[in-house]
Amino acid sequence: MSTISPNNPTQNSTEINTKLIKNSLSPMMKMHNENATTSQDPTIQYVPTEETVTAEDPAETDSVVNFDDSDVQDKLEEYQNSFLGKIISEKTIRKNSIRNVLGNIWCNPKGFRVEQIDDKLFHFFMDEKIDTKRIIQGNPWVFRNSWLIVQPWKRDIDVRSLEFHHAPIWIQLWGLPPHCKTKQMGIKIGSASMGTAVLASELYKYPKNKLIVKIKVNLEIYKPIKAGIHIRSVKDGVHWIDFRYEKLPHFCFTCGLIGHIETNCKLRDTKTDAESTNQNVLGPWLRSNQFGRMFIDYKDRK
Ligand SMILES: [Zn+2]
Repeated sequence: MSTISPNNPTQNSTEINTKLIKNSLSPMMKMHNENATTSQDPTIQYVPTEETVTAEDPAETDSVVNFDDSDVQDKLEEYQNSFLGKIISEKTIRKNSIRNVLGNIWCNPKGFRVEQIDDKLFHFFMDEKIDTKRIIQGNPWVFRNSWLIVQPWKRDIDVRSLEFHHAPIWIQLWGLPPHCKTKQMGIKIGSASMGTAVLASELYKYPKNKLIVKIKVNLEIYKPIKAGIHIRSVKDGVHWIDFRYEKLPHFCFTCGLIGHIETNCKLRDTKTDAESTNQNVLGPWLRSNQFGRMFIDYKDRK
């Protein structure tokens, strides 16, 4: 295998560095590299890449430039107040519309600006830490009926490798028998139906004094939305529990996935009658804009 790694005195570090650099090559560099017979080929013109590459510590004989935070202070402050956001939608998104709409939703934070990293991934900058914190705490956001999932920028992670697979969402559990409205039931139903840890389980008061158990889960956003689940006990029999999701964007009522609607669904014509008559019937009623009022149970009061 030819190497493009400079001045590696040992076999091991040569292999490591070659691998690291090869993996980060721009298409132009890859093409050159595949055709190269030796690293000294004078016809090879390497094009600098914008991607960052971490490497092993250089050998003692290598020259290296040492730096610390004081050398990058200005940029570091700018980046520390920034966060990344991904739009979960098959629609085309323009940076200008992101900036205008989200600027309004977020009350025009001081110094607000947006960089587009790829067609769905954006890097948001603002001057005040308090704004960044407030927006990250409000995750996820709904942008033109699609989710924008946000997470803080971290200096040691390449932004393109960040995963946006989960959204912290509140789900209301409707249909529980009154004596089953406990936080423990919320945890049990949430972990069984969502396959993930329940972040919170609380009692909420709704109009007409209805008491509802609400759970917060890290919803897996690339899995179909569930309409509800059965619960069963020897003494209480079987009950169907309806789920109502808060801050749920548009989703497909055919396949249950977020990011497109029925007219663009690949399963639109393939869904069988049996599938469409099962209990996971999906519709706009799964979205709830009624957030209720948190209710402190008498036994939790001090
Ligand atoms: Zn679909």
